[in-house]
Amino acid sequence: MNDNNQSQKISLKFLTLGDSKIGKTSILERYVNKTFKDNYLVTIGMDIRIKRLTINNNNIDIHVTDTAGQERFRSISKMSYKRSDGILVGFALNDQKTFESISYWIEQIYENKGKNSDVSVVLFGNKCDDKEHIVVKEEEKNKIKNQYNLQYFETSAKENINVKELFEHLIRITIVNKGLLKNFGLNENASIDEIIITERENQNYKA
Ligand code: GDP
Ligand code: MG
Repeated sequence: MNDNNQSQKISLKFLTLGDSKIGKTSILERYVNKTFKDNYLVTIGMDIRIKRLTINNNNIDIHVTDTAGQERFRSISKMSYKRSDGILVGFALNDQKTFESISYWIEQIYENKGKNSDVSVVLFGNKCDDKEHIVVKEEEKNKIKNQYNLQYFETSAKENINVKELFEHLIRITIVNKGLLKNFGLNENASIDEIIITERENQNYKA
């Protein structure tokens, strides 16, 4: 098999985690379909969305599983964790309770993946557009970031703030953590800034 074929076969699998109503579906819709609606029906089951990208001249599909309702019962299957190369964990900046759940979700990741897993995790605080109602304090965000050594993005699916940056950061660190740099024609010591991500046309389906 030549290198080109090998890179065609790479697909990266991601998962969104966090309490319900923080905007997981919205952030995914914004990234994949460039849309925002005030309401997404909560269908029980896993939604998988696909984003088609070109990374350093290699076509690659990103699969993102959206927990659709299971998070309300904290009943995410072990398989969902196991399948994920990277996970976005989020809360809503205007809802303290969702922030208090962050350590629960992060502990779940390590419990299900094992402490030595190469899973990549990025933290996001969504609804940053809702300035008048922001309640989560700077010092508590810093505490969580430092405790778990996570990169943090402040996002708005509604106003399209930092959404692309959030996903692309997750993609870049996942490529590094999984030792895939050479599959994209990069040197193994390459910096993450050398990972060039561009979008292809979209395709979307539910599974
Ligand atoms: P999920 O349960 O985590 O998937 O959350 P949803 O994506 O269904 O969003 C829950 C509610 O928050 C919906 O009414 C969304 O319109 C709203 N919402 C999502 N993202 C944002 C955002 O960035 N800003 C604001 N103001 N509202 C948002
Ligand atoms: Mg949802």
